[in-house]
Amino acid sequence: MSVLINFKICDNAKECGGIAVCPTGALSWNEEKDTIEIDNERCISCGMCEKECPIGAIKVAPTEEEYKKLKQEIDEDKRTTKDLFVDRYGAALISEFFSISLEEIESKTDRLGITLIEIYNPDLAECLLKSIPIKQITKNLPEDTLYYKVEAEKLDSKYEIQELPALLIFKDGKLIGKIEGYYSVNQKEELMEKLEQIGAKNEFI
Ligand code: SF4
Repeated sequence: MSVLINFKICDNAKECGGIAVCPTGALSWNEEKDTIEIDNERCISCGMCEKECPIGAIKVAPTEEEYKKLKQEIDEDKRTTKDLFVDRYGAALISEFFSISLEEIESKTDRLGITLIEIYNPDLAECLLKSIPIKQITKNLPEDTLYYKVEAEKLDSKYEIQELPALLIFKDGKLIGKIEGYYSVNQKEELMEKLEQIGAKNEFI
């Protein structure tokens, strides 16, 4: 019974949720080596660590055959942490670069071009791996499109938001549209199409 970690995408941090939930100490933090350590002798394949990892870097193999299969998948994985730890729609904020407050919305959107404001609740944020990277969301929009994320614990009445996360679309300083609700990476095309339609119009839709 074994646990595997895909260190290509794992941020290898002391705060790893897998370490925190492991009931047997099979996952631990090695201070000296500054890394997560695996002791497969202790692993009981309960799967708790796998469920805890938000990006799917921890895998549990209940059999030798499954271990080989997962090991091969990890060996062949071409992703790196750079591919995953990017800001995404509906997920918690990673870089402060995108962060603004509710009060700053007007000053940030008072410009020519498209500005997207995402309002999200950090307590309900979705898994990084399942969310859509901001870069992809803005791919088909004009190059000067700006994107900001606003943390909000409750729905905002000013913009009549019924569901979080929500995307407010501003064009030339005017609110021209709104998209509400979570879109997973599988619904990427749908979200991008809606955005393009809204971005092409000047009337609020
Ligand atoms: S599967 Fe269970 S016992 Fe094994 S490392 Fe994960 S949490 Fe610990």
